[in-house]
Amino acid sequence: MNLKDKISNAERILKMYWSRLEKLGIYTFEDFLFHIPFRYEDYSLISKISRVQPGETVTIQGEVLEIKTQYTKRGKRIQRAKIQDDTAVLDVIWFNQPYLTRTIPQNSNISLSGKAELNGQKIIMQSPEYEILTPNNAEQNAEQRGKTIHTGRLVPIYPETHGISSKWLRRQVHRILTEHKNKLDEYLPYSIIEKNNFLEFKEAIEQIHFPKSIEYALKARQRLSFDELFLLHLASLSRKNQWKQSFPGFAFSVYEDKAKDFVNKFPFTLTISQKRATEEILNDLASDKPMNRLLEGDVGSGKTVVSAIAMYVAFLNGFQSTLMAPTEILANQHYNTISNLLAPFGVKVGLKTGSSKYRVSSIKKKKAKNILNTKYIIHNTDLDILIGTHAILSEKVKFDKLGLVIIDEQQRFGVEQRSIIRQKGKNPHLLTMTATPIPRTVALTIYGDLDLSYLDEMPIGRKKIKTWLVPTEKRGAAYKWIETQIKQTDSQAFIICPFIEESESMNTVKAAKKEYERLKKEVFPHLRLGMLHGKMKAKEKEEMLTTFRDKKMDILVATPVVEVGIDIPNSTIIIIEASERFGLAQLHQLRGRVGRGDKQSYCLLFTQSESELAKKRLKSMETVHNGAALAELDLQLRGAGDVYGTLQHGKKQLKIASFSDFNLLEKVKKEAKNIFPELEKHPLLLEKLQSVSIKQVSPD
Ligand code: ADP
Ligand code: MG
Repeated sequence: MNLKDKISNAERILKMYWSRLEKLGIYTFEDFLFHIPFRYEDYSLISKISRVQPGETVTIQGEVLEIKTQYTKRGKRIQRAKIQDDTAVLDVIWFNQPYLTRTIPQNSNISLSGKAELNGQKIIMQSPEYEILTPNNAEQNAEQRGKTIHTGRLVPIYPETHGISSKWLRRQVHRILTEHKNKLDEYLPYSIIEKNNFLEFKEAIEQIHFPKSIEYALKARQRLSFDELFLLHLASLSRKNQWKQSFPGFAFSVYEDKAKDFVNKFPFTLTISQKRATEEILNDLASDKPMNRLLEGDVGSGKTVVSAIAMYVAFLNGFQSTLMAPTEILANQHYNTISNLLAPFGVKVGLKTGSSKYRVSSIKKKKAKNILNTKYIIHNTDLDILIGTHAILSEKVKFDKLGLVIIDEQQRFGVEQRSIIRQKGKNPHLLTMTATPIPRTVALTIYGDLDLSYLDEMPIGRKKIKTWLVPTEKRGAAYKWIETQIKQTDSQAFIICPFIEESESMNTVKAAKKEYERLKKEVFPHLRLGMLHGKMKAKEKEEMLTTFRDKKMDILVATPVVEVGIDIPNSTIIIIEASERFGLAQLHQLRGRVGRGDKQSYCLLFTQSESELAKKRLKSMETVHNGAALAELDLQLRGAGDVYGTLQHGKKQLKIASFSDFNLLEKVKKEAKNIFPELEKHPLLLEKLQSVSIKQVSPD
């Protein structure tokens, strides 16, 4: 190996770690410090060897008399060691870890933590945690205990991922803490710390990882949870403040008669909540204070048409609108819906997505490309509405007269993206939409700057999706039922494969492909199956969906990250594998992909879990059909991190606090309100706040 090889090898190792750390959401030193243990192993009982009792979880410390690898009768390798302190000798065994004979030198001083067991008459330890003591802390006394990190204390256990163990993380965190501790300046006003009897910031960070006692771990958690929600709430207050300064916007005329004519042309009547939301939105548009509203509503509750009415009103006022969606499939779908609705009223609608798709209703493709791909401003003589993906954010896209910005599935976009798109106009009105059910208390904390409209009912005539929890032994029967159902009612089905890791990785894709092959060959050999996953190219996805939509396929096997809002009315069955891994709200969103037409639809939840809690949660899907109610329920049953889960972002958004801690939310709101008017007096807090605003957290 020459020098060059070595370097590239080292780089490879570094890269390997980084890609693994990415899965845990760790990118910076600070991220390590905020990688919060989810529990502690209590190894704080340090005992002399002669006093160790069988069954006890204990730490012993002594000298390594010998350590060697032996073969068992069956040819397995085990490592045996003898450890001696001033009272006795203890036998220790590890299994198949030959490297230990190198990492644990003879005569070294060692600290071992684990469970003592009886082997015949003798007490031994099997596979204990170990830690070589430096000569310095070899003679451990009570005061020095804090110096060990893997043994002899409360030891943090972290969320792990393949190739990143808690032990490894512990070492990194400890090193970073030692080296950077003095950079952890206190930023909370002292009055808040005192009043709430909080630990100081530096101490809280130390104690959350390496607590002196469980009480300290709890105190650290209190302090850091407060901080997390406090900063989020302050950020929303300061966004609200900034918004106030973005005056004046455009006050539109509502053109009530024309808007009514437009609505009357719909093939359905608006639901009461659609009407109410429309009114709230039109009121906002009529004011020169720019709208900043969140339209929340279950999948299928009809948010798109509401946004179309707003865009029509903008058009009537001679203004342009833009609608940004998180995926090409959704952007295409919106383009079709919106241009169908609005083109008959003379509105020119355009589409721009990453895969160089340019379309403008009633204009030839070449000209459309000209309009949408020049460096010049898009004039409102060319285009009234531009729909697209984040391709719209490109510098090349400039509007002549942008009056209304709509962001669909807003939780998928960051604050910067929202601000970039707004800056393409002069204080345009902003409507964001989401299907993620957010309990009100939570919304008030993190979206305190937004006004809320809520679509709390489904269009009339929509049948409830019949939902069943299917235990393993009924799987075969369920497959048969599905086949018959598809054949008899001429409908289609989705099968959602479980996700294996937090974000959709190649492993998830591989598992899904395997399942797809199995289903095709063994379960449904007489049906036509297709597959859709997040790693496919946009064009392939679109083709697959078109094939499915055109009924050239019976079953679409898909990974869960695929397309939140796809609208295929002929599919009436959805099967969700390993459903216990999802939050109820997520299951509800997935379920919302069927039940869009007038046929009866079905959702089958497969699970192999035997846990009573898991079954209870999933059972509630059979009776509860309201996203917000399911979110609340999950909040009670499992805590918020899980409700909002990991499906859409690949990582949890709250690191330590819980949205279900209503007392804390109250405290946070009170303190934030007090401090906000005099924020400038607290420069360190301000600085901290800036980093939060950039990262801004959303609950799913
Ligand atoms: P969301 O974006 O809220 O999930 P969409 O706006 O895509 O829902 O609407 C879902 C489907 O319901 C669309 O096919 C739409 O045309 C239809 N729809 C919307 N509002 C109504 C209504 N009031 N009555 C009947 N169908 C409706
Ligand atoms: Mg939608």
